[in-house]
Amino acid sequence: MSTSLIERFHSVQDRIRQACLHSKRLPESVHLLAVSKTKPIEDILTLAENGQTCFGENYVQESLLKIAQSPELEWHFIGPIQSNKTKPIAEHFDWVHSVDRLKIAQRLSSQRPANLAPLNILLEVNISEEASKTGFSPDETIEIANEISQLPNLCLRGLMAIPQKAVNIEAQRVPFALMRMLLQTLQKQNPNAPLDTLSMGMSGDLEAAIMEGATMVRIGTDIFGARDISSNA
Ligand SMILES: *Cc1c(COP(=O)(O)O)cnc(C)c1O
Repeated sequence: MSTSLIERFHSVQDRIRQACLHSKRLPESVHLLAVSKTKPIEDILTLAENGQTCFGENYVQESLLKIAQSPELEWHFIGPIQSNKTKPIAEHFDWVHSVDRLKIAQRLSSQRPANLAPLNILLEVNISEEASKTGFSPDETIEIANEISQLPNLCLRGLMAIPQKAVNIEAQRVPFALMRMLLQTLQKQNPNAPLDTLSMGMSGDLEAAIMEGATMVRIGTDIFGARDISSNA
């Protein structure tokens, strides 16, 4: 009946490989970020023993406890960022996917400890232009990227999006294709920046995201199982 964590992990890796094959892409061109929010450190360690190195977290307090127990893993912050929480994020994470305001980028840069490599960041794009969602509009993204790429202790690597839910794979592809074109525009505008990352695709739409050029898919539910509703995630 219930499949094990490792079986689900392998089945997600398999879906990624199949989607790459289908799109004539190299499987190594898509990185799997295991989204472990609300899940116990034991599950993270089990996946780490099976070769998974990158983990995504949404809540600062919860993630700091996990990072303290496994600092050698690569930690990605993917949740909403309050400006009074930037310091621990700048100090403990390797990547931040959810940079949605200039002020957040400035704070992360100034709070990044000098002994650490620049913090890899992605700009979150409100690609479906939903009033309820945070993120830069596509136009704002183009306008702000140059300024953010100059911040000294950050490394602007690309874009992230969480599009509106869509009914089928063809509809899912539409916002992902816009993201691909937006990244191409940024690459032309900033030819010297290492803009190599498109973080898009979750449990329900990873195939569509890979068809449109995702280089990092963020998978929680289909690896770790459903999250408890009461955890507000
Ligand atoms: C929770 C979360 C995910 C994972 O979503 P699943 O549907 O569980 O795979 C991906 N990205 C972000 C930003 C999230 O908050």
